[in-house]
Amino acid sequence: MSATNAHPPASLFIGGEYVEGEGPALDVRYPYTGEVIAQLREASPAQVEAATRAAASAQAEWAALRPVERGRILSRAVQIIHDRAEELARLETLDTGKPIQETRVADWPSGAEALEYFAGLAATVTGQMIPLGGDFVYTIREPLGVCAGIGAWNYPSQIACWKSAPALAMGNAMVFKPSEETPLGALKLAEIFVQAGMPAGVFNVVQGRGAVGAALVTDPRVAKVSLTGSVPTGRKVYAAAAEGMRHVTMELGGKSPLIVFDDASLEDAVGAAILANFYSSGQVCSNGTRVFVQDGLHDAFLARLAERCADVRMGDPLDEATQHGPIISPAQAEKIRAAIASGLAEGARLVCGGPGEGAFIPPTVFADARDDMTITREEIFGPVMTVLRFTDEAEAVTRANATSFGLAAGVFTRDLARAHRVVAALQAGTCWINAYNLTPVEAPFGGVKQSGIGRENSAAAIEHYSQLKSVYVGTGPVEAPY
Ligand code: NDP
Repeated sequence: MSATNAHPPASLFIGGEYVEGEGPALDVRYPYTGEVIAQLREASPAQVEAATRAAASAQAEWAALRPVERGRILSRAVQIIHDRAEELARLETLDTGKPIQETRVADWPSGAEALEYFAGLAATVTGQMIPLGGDFVYTIREPLGVCAGIGAWNYPSQIACWKSAPALAMGNAMVFKPSEETPLGALKLAEIFVQAGMPAGVFNVVQGRGAVGAALVTDPRVAKVSLTGSVPTGRKVYAAAAEGMRHVTMELGGKSPLIVFDDASLEDAVGAAILANFYSSGQVCSNGTRVFVQDGLHDAFLARLAERCADVRMGDPLDEATQHGPIISPAQAEKIRAAIASGLAEGARLVCGGPGEGAFIPPTVFADARDDMTITREEIFGPVMTVLRFTDEAEAVTRANATSFGLAAGVFTRDLARAHRVVAALQAGTCWINAYNLTPVEAPFGGVKQSGIGRENSAAAIEHYSQLKSVYVGTGPVEAPY
């Protein structure tokens, strides 16, 4: 594939085949050069409707398969993803601008692991038998029906896999809308599912901006909406879903704390802070962007961080040596630069990085920041870390929790009792001790407070893509009062 042509056969995938969109044009740009690499069209309202209709009519047949057969098809998809790994990594890099050294190991590989995990889990889901002394009740875990998946642009293919894997394993069908910025990976996934033997219509892709997502969320056939996006979008989508009593999973933004105590390994804590802020050019929801460092380690931490950030290799994302790629879009780069400017204007000290040029913003670290500064309070979704000094444990916990977000949190210390005590007190759905931003499929992932509802990955996700039917079985005579 040349860097200038990532054009799929058509813009949408409905009923098992590529279909050209009938809505407005949607140009896909390679974030590194800004060149148009694919010219797509959005779905028209009639096509959104056709996609949910296709999903609804395929769902019953899909749900009627033995779970082990659904699992087998998902497993075949995993194999195809592995076979096409290099092509898929390159496409992800073109779609997102993320370095190929990341997309080879993180994006599709993580998506494939989700498919592998839920393929195996599908056949293990059972109900309960509840004895009542003669009569009894049994429960059936049933699919919800048609699920709508709506994705963000930072991990487009991983998000499509993370949402479709538990949904499809449980016998649901899905209509997925990728972010308008990164529409290509989900189409590949749809193609791969069909190649793996999945019946037509079980997984469909529509393209479009927020309005297409909004139409999907309110379609009467849709029983569940799973969104990965920002908190403001989450509020709108949750409200629209509530109108129809739809189930929701909301994976939203964050402003997560990473707390580094004096006794932590300096090198590991600095490494984790880098991973927690600069991977994918900082465009990661769970990033630990408020780095609280205890007095005794504070200065050494900043000095080592600046040293290591000076070594970063920025540049062509398709170059294997590149570690730090461009920002997804000029609009997002401007938002990040505005945040950096506000940090300077509010009096924070720039330790390294800064606004950068064009599509690139280098790893940027602020020190001497206060908790009430905009850079400390608001999600930036770019490579901007704020280092905050603290003195004692109780203070660190109180300040870490003083946010409306609650996606993730990390603690670095060699004192294990303290590590567990602090994690227990932190208001976050996903926590790490002496690690950061590792999200294995075996572990539940999701947020509390404004950062979300529900969990992705792990056996917990099964509950978010199914509902319980309770069946009472009478075994004796029926006694009526008259
Ligand atoms: P947005 O909230 O802007 O968009 C998310 C998705 O929702 C996009 O596909 C968007 O479409 C769509 N959308 C927008 N408005 C509506 C609507 N009214 N109804 C239905 N769908 C709608 O997020 P970004 O794409 O900018 O992603 C960045 C955000 O995502 C950050 O806040 C980040 O923290 C969060 N995120 C959370 C993750 C998590 O797991 N918790 C993981 C990754 C990101 P379009 O883009 O086409 O307008």
